[in-house]
Amino acid sequence: MTLPYETGFFYALAATLGACFGSFSNVLIHRLPRDLSVVRPRSACPQCAHAISWWENIPVLSWLLLRGNCRGCKAPISPRYPLVELAGAACGLVGVWRFGWSVPGLSASLLLLLLLDIALIDWEHMIIPHTLTIAGGVIGLGASFLDGRGPAPALLGMAVGAGSILAVSWGYRLVRGVVGMGGGDVMLMGMVGAFLGVWGVFGTLFGGALFGTLWIVISTRGRVQGNAKLPFGTFLALAAAVVLLAGPALARWYLGLSR
Ligand SMILES: [Zn+2]
Repeated sequence: MTLPYETGFFYALAATLGACFGSFSNVLIHRLPRDLSVVRPRSACPQCAHAISWWENIPVLSWLLLRGNCRGCKAPISPRYPLVELAGAACGLVGVWRFGWSVPGLSASLLLLLLLDIALIDWEHMIIPHTLTIAGGVIGLGASFLDGRGPAPALLGMAVGAGSILAVSWGYRLVRGVVGMGGGDVMLMGMVGAFLGVWGVFGTLFGGALFGTLWIVISTRGRVQGNAKLPFGTFLALAAAVVLLAGPALARWYLGLSR
């Protein structure tokens, strides 16, 4: 049995690690869609090129200490940075809270962090960087060796996840003569399959289509245009997070409704 103070310690550790990943997410979100290196150069103020030292780079705290201004030129630093760091802390905390300080808990936290980055990048740039989805696929497959699932359901999930988007995309091109979904969505669903398996893939596709449709209806106030561009990856990422945290409970509820 875990003592309460140990539980508290691991929650704090998960949140801190999550915030540090969130801080790195700010770098990934800015640089990956622009094909820039994520390790060089060091982060600097875009206004005055003041290099950001380690103590100006502590997640959330530095932004609060600097009162949201660059130390060099006093230009405001977007609150987006500490918000992404807070979201990273939440990802770390929620994975460990839901599945424990364990391989399933830590891989859930990593999946949530990857989904956060992918959702924000696709929303802003309509791109899903392969760097993130390939890293995620490797982590999901690697975790399957350690968390008792074994590699077979992870590999099957990857194949079904990527294959389902490819099939829809080919079908769409046959019927409409245009490319519906990009390679980014194929890779994203492969990654989701590595973590969540075949049923997780189906739940994510269902949820992503539902969230995307709701968003189109709400954002156009019901006047839907036929060729509206949609960052589908953002909605798939949101759906995958919901399936990870509440998938079995939602499936039972849904099957109960339709009976
Ligand atoms: Zn500056």
